[in-house]
Amino acid sequence: MNKILMTTPLVEMDGDEMTRVLWQMIKDELLTPFVELKTEYYDLGLKYRDETNDQVTIDAAEANKRLGVAVKCATITPNAARVKEYDLKKMWKSPNGTIRSILDGTVFRAPILVKGIEPYVKNWTKPITLARHAYGDIYKAVDAIVDEGTKCELVYTAQDGTETRQLVHQFDGAGVAMGMHNTDKSIESFARCCFNYALSTNQDVWFSTKDTISKQYDHHFKDIFAEIYENEYKEKFEAAGLTYFYTLIDDAVARVIRSNGGYIWACKNYDGDVMSDMVATAFGSLAMMTSVLVSPDGCYEYEAAHGTVQRHYYRYLKGEMTSTNPVATIFAWSGALKKRGELDGLSDLCAFADKLEKATVETIESGLMTGDLAAITTLENPQTLDSEQFIKTIRARLETLV
Ligand code: NAP
Ligand code: MG
Repeated sequence: MNKILMTTPLVEMDGDEMTRVLWQMIKDELLTPFVELKTEYYDLGLKYRDETNDQVTIDAAEANKRLGVAVKCATITPNAARVKEYDLKKMWKSPNGTIRSILDGTVFRAPILVKGIEPYVKNWTKPITLARHAYGDIYKAVDAIVDEGTKCELVYTAQDGTETRQLVHQFDGAGVAMGMHNTDKSIESFARCCFNYALSTNQDVWFSTKDTISKQYDHHFKDIFAEIYENEYKEKFEAAGLTYFYTLIDDAVARVIRSNGGYIWACKNYDGDVMSDMVATAFGSLAMMTSVLVSPDGCYEYEAAHGTVQRHYYRYLKGEMTSTNPVATIFAWSGALKKRGELDGLSDLCAFADKLEKATVETIESGLMTGDLAAITTLENPQTLDSEQFIKTIRARLETLV
């Protein structure tokens, strides 16, 4: 069999622990036997990040900007325990945070639907893609616990030095206060990312905030979305038969639960953080959630939504069999290959990515799956495989499709 050729390399960002083990298995069993895989490799494993003072993460993000499409393995975000475990020079920042700030992107998360893994919400027959704004609000806020009698004010100093004051609260007793911000530039790029992604995946966009209460802050998000939609996207949406729809977050939550899915739900940073966990769980499993970071200038970084599955890794190190689910990581690869194929006009690469997804889904639907899915499936007599057996079973099915 002739292997499928690529033209532009993918940026490959390797990672940590159990997902690093799966990464190699996926490449060996499901990719290199079929594709003449071209990648620019960056080792984002914690050890090498520490050795390079995290320069490798910056280099990988720059490569993503240069080459356009990346695929990333889950990585450890160090905390105090990890600093000790890996004897780190420093508590390095989250690689995802670093990459996100360089690409200035929006994160889109969508569940992989298979028969036999039923959403808890029975009318969700199509995936819901959650688009989370990834800059500002409470994630870049200052906050404080304040004493009784404190007068809390916001002071805005204009470029010419003029000060305007706004009373937040005159505290009779002790309490808490917070100041947060966002920028038009970031909100605008969030809006464009959502509208572009909607056009490229042929889905409607729903956007929700709490503008009835937050009459300046959240209302400004609503206005920016409306203006960008009117001026830049309305015609394209109408031509594609798509709609953009704004509603209050309370109303959105109720509508989402009643809906059949099949749209992009754009959320502010905090709403997106919380709602993406709700949507992922309600669709059945975090291990079946894909994630793609899209930058306003059209760069893509594909990954799984879950972490490095540390607990399984420690069992693996002891020589035990683990049944860690590789599906979201497989879909990160297929998503990246498909995008690369689209951009380079390689239809056989796109077709291969589709077949890889089909082989994966059909394997689960035939009753062969990892333990996390076997525990929740509605299929009768599911068979639990360890990660390696599961990947090899997908390979056997893939060979019949290519
Ligand atoms: P996690 O790796 O997502 O795993 C949490 C638990 O969820 C696992 O112990 C496992 O439950 C279940 N799980 C998640 N993915 C699974 C899969 N593919 N197959 C089967 N079960 C799966 O989260 P964590 O343990 O909180 O974090 C571990 C490390 O990942 C941390 O160092 C964190 O910094 C990092 N992290 C990275 C990313 C990223 O790179 N995008 C995202 C999140 C976390 P059971 O043990 O009950 O089987
Ligand atoms: Mg969260």
